[in-house]
Amino acid sequence: MSDCIFCKIANGEIPSDKIFEDDKVLVFNDISPQSPVHFLVIPKEHIPSIKYIDEKNIDIINHITLVINKIAKEKGLDDKGYRIVNNCGEFGGQTVEHLHFHVLGGRQLMWPPG
Ligand code: 5GP
Repeated sequence: MSDCIFCKIANGEIPSDKIFEDDKVLVFNDISPQSPVHFLVIPKEHIPSIKYIDEKNIDIINHITLVINKIAKEKGLDDKGYRIVNNCGEFGGQTVEHLHFHVLGGRQLMWPPG
C-alpha cells in the first residue's frame, strides 16, 4: 500500500536496521526498543492486521513463526526465552496498520502488560 510505512520499509524506500529477509518476510529492529532485543517481523505483502488472516493466507503465519524462532536462536534468546507480541486494532494498541510481530527478549519481561 502506497502510504504504509512498513510497505515502504519492505521495499527499501525507508531505511531500516535489517536483520533478515526472504521473499515473504522482512525482519528489522524496532526504532524504539522496549527490551535489549526488540525486533519486528512483517510480511512483505500488505496485510493490515492479524484479523485479515484467513484460510487463503494462513501460511504466512507458519512461515513467520519459523523465522521468529530462527532469529531468536541466532540472537541467543532461546535459552532464557522471549515474548512474541501482536497488537490488533485500536484497543489492541496497534499503531502501524501492517501486520507485524514484535519479538522482545534479553531481560525479564513482566506480566500482565499495561
Ligand atoms: P504497534 O504499536 O503497531 O504494535 O507497533 C509498531 C512498532 O513499530 C512500534 O514499536 C514502533 O516503535 C515501530 N516503528 C514505527 N515506525 C517505525 C519505523 O519507521 N522504523 C522502525 N524500525 N520501527 C518503527
